[in-house]
Amino acid sequence: MSTHPLISGLNEKQANAVSADDRPMLVLAGAGSGKTRVLVHRIAWLIQERRYSPYSILAVTFTNKAASEMRGRVEQLLGSSVRNMWIGTFHGLAHRLLRAHYMDVGLPQNFQILDSDDQQRLVKRLIKSMNLDEKRWPAKQAQWYINGKKDEGLRAQHIETFDPTEQTLKQIYEAYQESCDRAGLVDFAELLLRAHELLRDNKTVREHYQKRFRHILVDEFQDTNSIQYAWIRLLSGQDNIVTIVGDDDQSIYGWRGARVENIQQFLDDYPAAITIRLEQNYRSTGNILRAANSVIANNAERLGKDLWTDGNEGEPISLYAAFNEMDEARYIVGRIEEWRDQGNALQDVALLYRSNAQSRVLEEALLHARLPYRIYGGLRFFERQEIKDALAYLRLVSNRDDDAAIERVINTPTRGIGNRTLDIIRQTAREQKKSLWQAAAQLVDEKQLAGRARNAVASFIELINTIDDETEDFTLGRLSNEVISRSGLLAMYEAEKGEKAETRVENLKELVSACENFTQDESEEDLTPLNAFLAHAALEAGEEQADEYQDAVQLMTLHSAKGLEFPMVFMTGVEEGVFPSQQSMDEPGRLEEERRLCYVGMTRAMQKLVITYAEQRRIYGQDFFHKVSRFISEMPADALHEVRLQTQVQKPTSYGRFNTGASHEAFEQTGFSLGQRVRHAKFGDGTVLNYEGTGPQSRIQINFDQVGTKWLVVAYAKLEAS
Ligand code: ATP
Ligand code: MG
Repeated sequence: MSTHPLISGLNEKQANAVSADDRPMLVLAGAGSGKTRVLVHRIAWLIQERRYSPYSILAVTFTNKAASEMRGRVEQLLGSSVRNMWIGTFHGLAHRLLRAHYMDVGLPQNFQILDSDDQQRLVKRLIKSMNLDEKRWPAKQAQWYINGKKDEGLRAQHIETFDPTEQTLKQIYEAYQESCDRAGLVDFAELLLRAHELLRDNKTVREHYQKRFRHILVDEFQDTNSIQYAWIRLLSGQDNIVTIVGDDDQSIYGWRGARVENIQQFLDDYPAAITIRLEQNYRSTGNILRAANSVIANNAERLGKDLWTDGNEGEPISLYAAFNEMDEARYIVGRIEEWRDQGNALQDVALLYRSNAQSRVLEEALLHARLPYRIYGGLRFFERQEIKDALAYLRLVSNRDDDAAIERVINTPTRGIGNRTLDIIRQTAREQKKSLWQAAAQLVDEKQLAGRARNAVASFIELINTIDDETEDFTLGRLSNEVISRSGLLAMYEAEKGEKAETRVENLKELVSACENFTQDESEEDLTPLNAFLAHAALEAGEEQADEYQDAVQLMTLHSAKGLEFPMVFMTGVEEGVFPSQQSMDEPGRLEEERRLCYVGMTRAMQKLVITYAEQRRIYGQDFFHKVSRFISEMPADALHEVRLQTQVQKPTSYGRFNTGASHEAFEQTGFSLGQRVRHAKFGDGTVLNYEGTGPQSRIQINFDQVGTKWLVVAYAKLEAS
């Protein structure tokens, strides 16, 4: 093996991939085998050894976080900056292309990104204004349709259909697109589609980038969709070298249009491509890897890979059967406290769950135990109601024609612009093909609104215009401060009572500091600071959080854990109906995708993996009794260790849900004590493990020798000491 510093820390296959000649390459390999590492080293190799300028390299990653890590690692390897290298997500790169060529694609210079929530509002409003029944035509469904078509590269006019339902959806798509174009708004799917059209239809632009990007490298390739792949095809002309790395077993975005078939397609489209397979896993212990391999082996459609590790077996995977979701959270908190008390960092712990809604109970338990945590995804800072309100004002300051922003705040805080007035404005806008702002201004000028409504609309227009005029040379921080106070948002939330309102006020103030601390990327010099900030808020929401440097437990969905690794991982809610999700259970294809998600989750763990499930779970106010997930039965039994509760009971954790309000003495008054042997008429003999509540409602948990653990109400259980 070579001793070149960029290669010395790699195995032979990795080294071959890093130093391969200029030809297309596929690195196909399982989790933790060093694919991302290979990509990073290859970029450094190309720059240092092959003398490519960073300017001529394009790297695509799955999240903004991954992109900035990748840039950092390349710079670390090279010991110099690679500022002019393009690296980012498909969406981020598309945004950059559109900014550079806004005129070519027919966008105003200050075009704004419409996030998914605002998109849905806009669609909803259009459905209403088209006099369609909102029950029959839910906005969410229409939104899904529009984005799906865009992901396939289809404009409304390309859709030919005789199906009456689809004809209506197509009309909604048309109206929606018109409205976006008028307002200078671009949704996430549109970013990709428009950038694609730019490259496809504009030869000069296309050739410019083909000339520039000698090397194109894509991580997590298995989750590219049609339009993203089409993009890569367009960017790579005759002589561009494309390197893709991926793992078909980790394709988890099929539900959002990702096509794992793109891997095969790549091999067809680039017949000269070499394929390199990496088989050694450097991330996880033997037990974790064996269990993950054994789960994924149940999928039928696989390209097939073997993964091995020469690391140690490690400890078995812990499996904990919780009584309910709160017990699950309590157990997890106990394990995290133990981990911390052994001198480990909290940021080395990840809590993974199938859906965002599951985080709340975990969050509460962590709060209670005073364990700092950070959430990736979910309701991110920039997605919170009050923040979106403030951002809408900022967007209007930048661009009056932003219909989605007007819809959001024209009457927030309430200023006497009711639905009737709004409907008149909407209708005028629609009939005259104007933005809502223009329509409103016209109605005011032509005195076509009733007196009070007219005054209200006029003063809203005045408000935005004044803020814009008077803040021209303000810093972003001062501007946002003006906006939250003069709009009345701050006063509105200050007047509300309760903890939630307090949080909202805090968040608004946090927004001002976010603005103050915002530094514009050098690649964004073409944008005003305000527009750079707005794009940042829309694109990077949640991936970076305020207290980035605090040591904190990391919470995220299984989906957003892709590509990451942690010494300790909790995979929670592993129950039939939760994971695999209810909707996936009847469809073999979707079930396989859930299984890949399980594989992704397990392979995030380096040393410790803890899997938990709850016998009873409350979801949206309803109690469910789920069976343990099939995925657990697909793991080899000898890699698992079922946790017994007794050890937990003797050492109550600070999140004492089961001990709050029930002192030890009060419990002993029931005549039972922890660890005591008891007999139940139906369930037989067992041991007392835990208790909860006081008085007639107090409940007791017993591990029955025959039937396992159960919670019983003491007053009804008719237990006898045995
Ligand atoms: P995933 O499929 O989850 O994205 P991956 O294939 O991209 O995983 P990496 O994240 O690149 O894997 O690597 C996994 C871990 O193994 C990292 O901590 C990486 O530094 C380490 N690693 C990779 N190759 C080697 C090697 N040759 N020697 C030592 N450690 C390595
Ligand atoms: Mg990776």
